[in-house]
Amino acid sequence: MGFLASKRTERSAETEFDAFEVVAAQVVDVIATAGVVLDQQNQVVRASPGAVQFGLVQNRRLIHAALVQLAEDAKKASGAVSVDIELETGLRRDTVWVHARAAKFGERYVMLLVDDRTDSRKLEETRRDFVANVSHELKTPIGAISLLTEAISGATDDPETIQKFAESLQRESQRLANIVQELIELSRVQGAKLSETSGDLDLATVIADAVDRNMVLAEQHSIKLASSAVGPVKMFGDYEMLTTAVKNLVENAIVYSEPGGQVGVGLRVVDSVAEIAVTDSGIGIPESEQERIFERFYRVDPSRSRETGGTGLGLAIVKHAAYNHRGEVRLFSKVGTGSTFTLRLPIEQQES
Ligand code: ADP
Repeated sequence: MGFLASKRTERSAETEFDAFEVVAAQVVDVIATAGVVLDQQNQVVRASPGAVQFGLVQNRRLIHAALVQLAEDAKKASGAVSVDIELETGLRRDTVWVHARAAKFGERYVMLLVDDRTDSRKLEETRRDFVANVSHELKTPIGAISLLTEAISGATDDPETIQKFAESLQRESQRLANIVQELIELSRVQGAKLSETSGDLDLATVIADAVDRNMVLAEQHSIKLASSAVGPVKMFGDYEMLTTAVKNLVENAIVYSEPGGQVGVGLRVVDSVAEIAVTDSGIGIPESEQERIFERFYRVDPSRSRETGGTGLGLAIVKHAAYNHRGEVRLFSKVGTGSTFTLRLPIEQQES
């Protein structure tokens, strides 16, 4: 705002207007991300700090032609005019989505208010993608179930075929049940109010429980599953959420290993951070995929994941569970050698 001080002497006739401008500049900053007052030549006579920071103004001019156009429109209109547009700002030319409004301000000026709507736009896009993904994921087993039931009713005099189709039917409905179950878990971790569901817990018990829930799966895959966790390691958190997270990691470690492999779970505390490490000697994850696997529905090998009953949601649940507890997940993996997922959770001073 300071750069306008010298301009003021030239505009002595407008002095009575200055106070008005100052108030306007203060007000726009409260009600919008950025506010600018323009004169008849579209020169900026007032810019709120937000407008400068947001990269709308340079040398007393609006940078974006679309905003200049809006100011022009406002001069001709009887009321306010508005537009939702995409702008590029700053040196990095970041794309931002804004809602801009302009209106005549007194006889000689135009007031322009710009609101940053990038976050809500991104949220909207994410929500749309998610709904599309869920629909796609559900469509496959539902389609298969419908085809299989048709096939069964057309094969009434062939018990062997019926038996085969019935088994496929069961597999597909189990898959459907898995997706729905994981969606429920995901929405639970995303919307969780931890203050209501948290309590004192021992991470060694969480691990024991998660390992226990995977015993049958480990046997089915001929995997040796062992935990070296020694407690107590106390922390304040959501027992069910953390157990689900560790359970998902152990489950992956089992299903992405070859029969005869080993899966180990460890627990240690380093500088008030509890580290739960789940290590396997399985297929490993290429480095280029290591970031993406935490995204919802992302799989390195969709057909393998489908075979093992995977939904692509397990690690998204783990990531959210970690974030909810102010923690993180780290991954070390080598293709053909195996992977270690480490759930790192800050804990209060450890009691021994
Ligand atoms: P899914 O239900 O497909 O297992 P996840 O979100 O749990 O979904 O995992 C996403 C993808 O990450 C998996 O499809 C798999 O490709 C990869 N992945 C996860 N854990 C492991 C692991 N321990 N070893 C190898 N690949 C893994």
